[in-house]
Amino acid sequence: MPPDEFDLCIVGGGIYGCGIAQAAAASDYTTLLIEKGALASGTSSQSTKLIHGGLRYLEHAQLNLVRESLQEREILLDIAPELASREWFYIPVYRSSRRPGWMIGCGLMLYYLLSGGTSHFHRLPKRQWGKVLPGLKQEQLHSVWAYQDAATDDAALTRAVAESARSFAVISVNIPNSSPPRQIRTAGTSNCPIRAISMHVH
Ligand SMILES: Cc1cc2nc3c(=O)[nH]c(=O)nc-3n(C[C@H](O)[C@H](O)[C@H](O)COP(=O)(O)OP(=O)(O)OC[C@H]3O[C@@H](n4cnc5c(N)ncnc54)[C@H](O)[C@@H]3O)c2cc1C
Repeated sequence: MPPDEFDLCIVGGGIYGCGIAQAAAASDYTTLLIEKGALASGTSSQSTKLIHGGLRYLEHAQLNLVRESLQEREILLDIAPELASREWFYIPVYRSSRRPGWMIGCGLMLYYLLSGGTSHFHRLPKRQWGKVLPGLKQEQLHSVWAYQDAATDDAALTRAVAESARSFAVISVNIPNSSPPRQIRTAGTSNCPIRAISMHVH
C-alpha cells in the first residue's frame, strides 16, 4: 500500500518512532513506520539503559519533570517487570568531589519524596565499601551513598513497544528495492531485516 493511503508516516524505528506508532495505532490511525536498518539499531540500543527520574535534574529545580519521570518509571516497573528492574546505584563522594556528601544526601531525600517513597536510599557503612564495591578507590573517600533507580534492555524495550503496536494492527512488510522480499520476519526478531512496517488498524 503506498504511503499516501496512511494517516501517519513515521520515519525511524527507535523508541520514539515505535512509541508514536503504538499511540497512533491505538488511536485508530493507519500508520506507516519506516526504518532504514533494524528496529532499535540507532541510539535506542546505545543508551545508558536506565529508566530513571533524572537525579541530576534536581540541581536545576526541574521538580515536575523528575516527578513525572519517576511516575512513568513506576508504571513501567509495574506493567513490564520483564523489561525493567529496580537496581541499586552508588555515588562515591571523595574529599575533592564537587558536591559534598550532605548535598548528595539532600538530593536523594528529595528524589525519594518525589518518587512517592519508592526510591530508597541510604549511606553505605564504611565497612561495606570494599564488599559492595570491590575495586573502589578508597583513598580520600568521604562517603558512599546508595539509592534505587531502574534499568532496562533498551533494544528489547523498543522491540516490545513495536510488538505492542502490532497487537493493535494488521502489519504488512515492505522492503523497497527488494523483489522478491527476502527473509521477512516479524518486527520483534533480532537482526530483523525489515525495512518498513505498515500498520493498518482493524
Ligand atoms: C549515551 C546515552 C545515554 C542515554 N541514556 C538514557 C537513559 O538513561 N534513559 C533514557 O531514557 N534515555 C537515555 N538516552 C537517550 C535515549 O537513548 C534517546 O533519547 C533515544 O534512544 C532516542 O530515540 P529515537 O527514537 O529518537 O532515536 P534512534 O533510536 O536513534 O532511532 C532513530 C531511527 O531512525 C532510523 N533512521 C534514521 N534516518 C532514517 C531514514 N532516512 N529513513 C528510515 N529510517 C531512518 C535509524 O536507523 C534509527 O533506527 C541516552 C542516550 C545516549 C546517547
